Amino acid sequence: MSDSQKVENVVIFGSGPAGLTAAIYTARANLEPVVFEGLEPGGQLTTTTEVENFPGFPEGILGPELMENTKKQAERFGTRFEMDEVVKVDLSSWPYTFWTANGKEWRTKTMIVATGASARYLGLESELRLRGHGVSACATCDGFFYRDMEIVVVGGGDSAAEEATFLTRFASKVHLLVRRDEMRASKIMQKRVFDNPKIEVHWNTVLTEVLGEQVVDGVRVKNVKTGEETVMPQIKGVFLAIGHKPNTEPFVDWLDHDETGYLVTKPDSTATNVPGVYAAGDVQDRVYQQAVTAAGTGCMAALEAEKWLEEREG
Ligand code: NDP
Repeated sequence: MSDSQKVENVVIFGSGPAGLTAAIYTARANLEPVVFEGLEPGGQLTTTTEVENFPGFPEGILGPELMENTKKQAERFGTRFEMDEVVKVDLSSWPYTFWTANGKEWRTKTMIVATGASARYLGLESELRLRGHGVSACATCDGFFYRDMEIVVVGGGDSAAEEATFLTRFASKVHLLVRRDEMRASKIMQKRVFDNPKIEVHWNTVLTEVLGEQVVDGVRVKNVKTGEETVMPQIKGVFLAIGHKPNTEPFVDWLDHDETGYLVTKPDSTATNVPGVYAAGDVQDRVYQQAVTAAGTGCMAALEAEKWLEEREG
């Protein structure tokens, strides 16, 4: 039987903490789930270093290791993995149909959307032009290139604090550009920033232009209180840490979402507006966005999909 004729019980889009937890639960329920790993197998945790707040690891655990372990756990119970991603869905009739980047058509009884979120950029022309040439949204991927150089990190949340701190391993100095006069980051992360002699915080400051033709060669920043613009010619790298946008592209015409694009689920549930379609993890979470909450909603989605199938098929 070809993949296009077979009807799957559960397909899971995304392989971060939400998707893999959903896989563990549905696999243990003998539903033989298929996980479409997406463009970033393992999700955002694969681009972090130490994860200190996932329960069960008193000394912390490296993000990639945590995801590798979770994948093995899902595999152990019979989860199938596809190195592919969903590009289009048709939820007008059941079983549902979807298509992947590899050009295959699939059918499924239930779906768990756990496609996560991707880094946001400011939207400056110069930032886009120099992306990959000194402009990055992943400190762990690209930090190594900035040994003994000065760089800026844009943002005031936990990501910005974490990235700025991490980048001091390489950079001679990290300038943290915070657009307000306070940071959104948790107190413990802020303390790490303030205690680090290699980090200078620039309050009320926004990035207005990335300078340089082929590579980053300085930045222009603006103090939003005084309106004063300054060029920092010594800057060789720009790291964005200004939050994320949910990855919902194939689903936007079918699934309810809020004004910022996050999928909307029913109260105390991961059910979307389409029966048998669930959303878990960062794609539906604009508030917590933690690995452990993603895993929690992945578990909920799995249990809800299992119950829905049971009620439908007896
Ligand atoms: P957040 O949404 O928490 O923070 C985004 C930051 O970027 C804010 O300071 C915001 O400023 C700033 N920002 C947004 N847009 C712009 C802009 N156009 N120009 C300049 N600054 C801008 O995102 P994070 O990615 O930091 O964190 C997301 C979630 O992940 C949070 O729940 C966080 O706690 C969690 N997290 C936890 C970690 C941990 O516990 N170790 C590590 C990393 C993330 P403003 O405050 O003014 O809106």
